[in-house]
Amino acid sequence: MKENNGLKILFVSAEVSPFAKTGGLADVAGSLPGTLALMGNDIRVVMPRYKTIKSDMMYLTDFAVLIGNRKETCIVKETEVCLKTGVKYARFPVYFIDNYNYFDREGIYCYSDDAERFGFFCSAVLDMLPAVNFQPDIIHCNDWHTGPICMLLCERYREQPFYKNIATVFTIHNLEYQGNFPRSTFDLFNLGEDIFTPEKVEFYGMFSFMKAGLVYSDIINTVSKRYAKEIQTVQYGEKLDGLLRKRSADLFGIVNGISYEEFNPSTDRRIYKNYSLETYWDKKGNKTCLQKEMNLPVRDVPIISLISRLTGQKGLDIILDKMDALLAHDVQFVLLGTGDEYFENAFKNLRIKYPDKFSAYIGFNTTLAQRIYAGSDMFLMPSRFEPCGLGQIISLRYGTIPIVRATGGLADTIIDYDEDNEKGNGFVFDEYSSIEMLQAVERAIKLYNEKPEVWQQLVKRALSLDFSWDKPAKEYTELYYLAIEKRR
Ligand code: ADP
Repeated sequence: MKENNGLKILFVSAEVSPFAKTGGLADVAGSLPGTLALMGNDIRVVMPRYKTIKSDMMYLTDFAVLIGNRKETCIVKETEVCLKTGVKYARFPVYFIDNYNYFDREGIYCYSDDAERFGFFCSAVLDMLPAVNFQPDIIHCNDWHTGPICMLLCERYREQPFYKNIATVFTIHNLEYQGNFPRSTFDLFNLGEDIFTPEKVEFYGMFSFMKAGLVYSDIINTVSKRYAKEIQTVQYGEKLDGLLRKRSADLFGIVNGISYEEFNPSTDRRIYKNYSLETYWDKKGNKTCLQKEMNLPVRDVPIISLISRLTGQKGLDIILDKMDALLAHDVQFVLLGTGDEYFENAFKNLRIKYPDKFSAYIGFNTTLAQRIYAGSDMFLMPSRFEPCGLGQIISLRYGTIPIVRATGGLADTIIDYDEDNEKGNGFVFDEYSSIEMLQAVERAIKLYNEKPEVWQQLVKRALSLDFSWDKPAKEYTELYYLAIEKRR
């Protein structure tokens, strides 16, 4: 192992942008490794090869992976990512774990055999290392899909000298999704019965992928400092708060960054008109084009937007509760999202009820997402809980002012304008209540309408903030060294 940013890191994730994305995990996995590579680390990324990934990739090797009492073939493919920022240049490989039975499907998750698919992925990742001749100092696992890697490493692979000193960091991007499966799933890993206990990987009679990561990793972190505290409480702990409190000395919070290359209003080709802090007034051109694209009248009224997975987590019930009151104001609302049928239908109905004020695109569309970030004035994110949240950070990068509930990463990144008009960068409310949410939106609308010059200052402040990976990547490096120290 080399000191000073010369670490060998394997970064494991079920989704990595731009290859496969359903949410923020893909954004993180698609951008943090690049910054770590630019810092001089030897980083490699590994993910499943889903059918939908069309990128060019090269065959590297293949081998058999033991899964239960069967052997399944794993084919490893590779592509190379090249990065250049200023004078810095880096390249690193992305490995794809391929198996026709498990991954040659249209979707990423939500199949009845997900336990077997990701169980195979975890074993294959560890088996891959000697085959590609890479002996990392750190395996950085992300979310439940990768939890068993930490378990397998401790309970089986470390017996072999090759794996002995590899340390693990396990990042929780969302504790709600735990990968809890029937007990029989545990048999896929061919480990002793003594591990299937409540102290280890049993979770109310189920085998928990997430718990396997939390119990066996050297260091745990989550994606904001506030969420790291919240998940140690009964309210946010998703029944794992006891275990997280037990491991609190090893539990950290690092607020996510975003790629300042991918999300850059002055170069982003997906938006209608580029702009920057120096030419912030060109943001207006994006607003007009967005109104046309979303079939809304072209008028100078505040546009409130929402881009989200449509699930209970995201505070959609309190939005729906007050949508009539909100749309009684002279505003427009633009929504992009996909998810629970109940919410999809509710928003489709609003589109019919308020054709001049409410526009919704039900689906996943990364180009439209950027156009909305660029073209709207306010971004609403009233989440019930939010590990970090990237929507509010991307909004700021595009000079769009977030309105958020003070939870998790939203609390760590957004400062209420009324309470601190020197540093305020958004509008914040505390209680999970539709009334408080509406009041925060109304404060934003009032400022927009009554003090346009102050609003412009807010937009300029948002455009000048730094939420790049530079600082968080250094914090991750510190965690990696801590994990290595612990392992020694
Ligand atoms: P989560 O990870 O819980 O889904 P985040 O706010 O951390 O939420 O990240 C969401 C990411 O997914 C952002 O990059 C957002 O722009 C993107 N996103 C969410 N829904 C859609 C959609 N329907 N179309 C395009 N991008 C979306």
